[in-house]
Amino acid sequence: MTMTILFGGPEEERAAWAPLLTQAAGEAGLAMRLVLSPEEAAPEAVDAILYSPEGPVKDFAPYTRLKAVLSMWAGVEKIAPDAGITVPLTRMVDDGLALGMRDWVIAHVMARHMRIDLARATGDDDWPKHVPPLARDRRVTVLGLGELGATAAQGLAGLGFPVTGWSRRAKDIAGVDCLSGPEGLRDALSRADFLVALLPLTAATENLLDADALALLPRGAELFNPGRGALIDDDALLAALADGHVAHATLDVFRTEPLPRGHPYRGHRRVTVTPHVAAATRPETAAPALVQQMIRLRDGAALRHVVDRAAGY
Ligand code: NAP
Repeated sequence: MTMTILFGGPEEERAAWAPLLTQAAGEAGLAMRLVLSPEEAAPEAVDAILYSPEGPVKDFAPYTRLKAVLSMWAGVEKIAPDAGITVPLTRMVDDGLALGMRDWVIAHVMARHMRIDLARATGDDDWPKHVPPLARDRRVTVLGLGELGATAAQGLAGLGFPVTGWSRRAKDIAGVDCLSGPEGLRDALSRADFLVALLPLTAATENLLDADALALLPRGAELFNPGRGALIDDDALLAALADGHVAHATLDVFRTEPLPRGHPYRGHRRVTVTPHVAAATRPETAAPALVQQMIRLRDGAALRHVVDRAAGY
């Protein structure tokens, strides 16, 4: 049976994805008709949509034969609440995303741990000596122990940082002290010299890092947010930065992206900004993973990484 798959990513990404999806389908023995834009196929012929919030598909009603929506993004807060989707919705999970996120977290945690910025700032007459603590003396907490959080937490633990993790349900991850529940959150925050936020954005996590939560951090703690901008109450973070309670924030994601001109985070001496690049979906690794989902769909097998629409992730 030939599966008709609509690529629902942005137009400028079609050329990169098409050959890799075709190649992955060929290698996996999947008969696939790849449609690169909604105009190229009758909606009632489409079996599955590869979805991106940056792509053209906004209304799912015309796709009457649709069997699944396969998100090409790991974060699904924009699409999970869409009542127009009545078929399974899956999130993007592949090693390219997890390893990319691990690299971003390790790079930025190490940069702040070692204070690489001081080395960069050294002028002609400066000779500043900064001796960082050993990794084993810097406690790191990772909020969210899913595909990305668990990989990042294990990477940090492998470097010698004492790592605490926090998730909704109890977890057991080698080398990571796993906590859950409200009491667990308080513990996790109170021991976070460095705090990494890798939670999805849901009704339960929005503004989780508000003034009360930030106050639980040890004075001088640092925050790293590659999760979602709205996990943080921005006013509370700016106040904590001004006060020095939070010494620095490294932020990849924001309530409004691109981060607006003149936003207080821009140019803030205690804030490092990266432009939502922590973990990109890479077509080379994502295309084979998506093809495996299409094969499950073709075979009537259970899809992996199905979004729990009630929980929002
Ligand atoms: P995931 O596998 O779904 O993991 C989510 C984790 O968060 C799980 O451990 C989950 O707990 C925990 N969690 C969810 N709601 C919670 C709550 N109310 N209280 C406590 N823990 C909660 O997601 P992922 O693949 O790791 O991705 C995480 C997020 O990273 C995405 O949602 C997205 O927003 C962000 N992201 C950012 C980039 C970027 O470039 N910056 C790229 C990709 C993704 P359980 O384990 O108990 O379910």
